[in-house]
Amino acid sequence: MSKSIKKIGVMTSGGDSPGMNAAIRAVVRTCAFHKVDCIGIYRGYQGLIEGDFKEMNARSVNNIVNKGGTILKSARSQEFRTVEGRKKAHSNAMEAGLDALVVIGGDGSFTGAMIFSQEFDFPVMGIPGTIDNDIYGTSSTLGYDTALNTVVEAIDKIRDTASSHNRLFFVEVMGRDVGHIALNAGVGAGAEEILIPEENLGKDRLLESLKRSRESGKTSSIVVVAEGDTTGENVFDLKDYVEQNLPEYEVRVSVLGHMQRGGSPSCWDRVLASRMGVKAVESLLDGKSNYMVGIQDSKITLCPIDQAVKGKTDIDLELLRVSDIMTT
Ligand code: ATP
Repeated sequence: MSKSIKKIGVMTSGGDSPGMNAAIRAVVRTCAFHKVDCIGIYRGYQGLIEGDFKEMNARSVNNIVNKGGTILKSARSQEFRTVEGRKKAHSNAMEAGLDALVVIGGDGSFTGAMIFSQEFDFPVMGIPGTIDNDIYGTSSTLGYDTALNTVVEAIDKIRDTASSHNRLFFVEVMGRDVGHIALNAGVGAGAEEILIPEENLGKDRLLESLKRSRESGKTSSIVVVAEGDTTGENVFDLKDYVEQNLPEYEVRVSVLGHMQRGGSPSCWDRVLASRMGVKAVESLLDGKSNYMVGIQDSKITLCPIDQAVKGKTDIDLELLRVSDIMTT
């Protein structure tokens, strides 16, 4: 392993997600294992600009593997988007003796890391932390599995009230650009229809589907709608449209919102975070830089960070087909 990296900084940036704490813990403890110093950087890039640092050792991360959110706090920093801001960040990093940075966040955070690395020839490694699972180069991001479980649990509860009152529920879930949460949680929770940004079902086809469902003897229904779906203007517009055209339906809307980001991480996310944290630190010690750690076919992998930023994730078409068959 390279002798040149003696001190690594770790931060969380962008939207928080369950499993970030487990990843911080993994980075800190892998540093301790390899006798490398570790500095926690608070509030993402803004903390780097302001020198908001704290030395971390193996004991600094006790009892956080099971906690949602991030003990290092997260932030969005406009200042880091400017050269002046990044110069301040670099001078703080130098002053603190940092040799490399592990950034836990989404594609915006990786873009920042990539630019910083190019400008100052500074080693960086990314760990994908976002519930949306919208990052190229990994089949799973930290927090995605937990968010799916949270959404499925919430829809199960909504189903209880839907079936007691013979109601139709539109449940809006997170996913402005991608429908991974909607599609997977929709199949898992047995939704009648799943509306995702990648495919505009069309309001008429939605009505036909709901009519068919009623004719087949179903008395209540759940439609899962990703935030970014364009079938209607929004979930309330869909409710109005269905009520106007299918008066036999009593329709309700439930917007799950920020509760999807919180909660104790699932076992999958904790294990993934631990594996990714080890890989991030050991890759830096091996002299690698400008990669994002990912998981592909159950193996922990490295993806060049520019590809992770530019690439687009695809929706699983087979899962769409499975969803169609399940609503027969
Ligand atoms: P999420 O997926 O939750 O939105 P994210 O990491 O994509 O997470 P962003 O707000 O896009 O969240 O980015 C986080 C931070 O990364 C920004 O506040 C900014 O400081 C930095 N960043 C993003 N894009 C750039 C850029 N082009 N140049 C410099 N810094 C950037």
